[in-house]
Amino acid sequence: MESITRTIKYQSDLDLHFREHISSLEGGDKIKNCIQCGMCSATCPLSIYMDITPRRVMAMVRAGFKKEVLSSKTIWLCTSCYSCTVHCPENIKITDVMYALKRMAIHEGSYPRGLPIPVLAKTFFDMVTRKGRSSEFRLVFSTFLKVSIAKLLSMAPLGWKLFRQGRMPLRPESIKKTRELRLIMQGLKEAS
Ligand code: SF4
Ligand code: SF4
Repeated sequence: MESITRTIKYQSDLDLHFREHISSLEGGDKIKNCIQCGMCSATCPLSIYMDITPRRVMAMVRAGFKKEVLSSKTIWLCTSCYSCTVHCPENIKITDVMYALKRMAIHEGSYPRGLPIPVLAKTFFDMVTRKGRSSEFRLVFSTFLKVSIAKLLSMAPLGWKLFRQGRMPLRPESIKKTRELRLIMQGLKEAS
């Protein structure tokens, strides 16, 4: 985080449409009312591990630091516990803003490289969109194949144990009407 906050930025580096875009999304409409009180950061159980605190995320979204926010680890460490949202004196839906930022980071491919959470989220979404079900084996395999082969190999003994106990089926599950599902998902994508 410190490298982000200490870097000098010029107006030309910012994306001044970023705030308007986030504000137009579900849950983002009140972000302009943020008074920077810091209650969200104070009540967030994970803020000490984040590279940008939730309060700073709000400030940076408003200022147009799109690249920095979308490539931060913070949005992926957010566990959607809603503590920030229930304590915000301005009733800003911070958790929903975090969700919006995650969607945007995946859509634009600007999430931090080497972090498994966004890759897992994207793989899960793609799998459910295609099959209507997720397969644990394929989810873990595809995610770590993209993120870290070494990590994947280190997880092999655990995967083998789970497989032997019948807790990790290799065969992917699928619903029957996958074509209809894809049409629904396509419609949702176009509407968002
Ligand atoms: S708690 Fe609400 S008003 Fe306070 S800094 Fe966080 S988002 Fe802004
Ligand atoms: S919803 Fe996310 S940002 Fe808000 S308090 Fe929980 S972990 Fe922190």
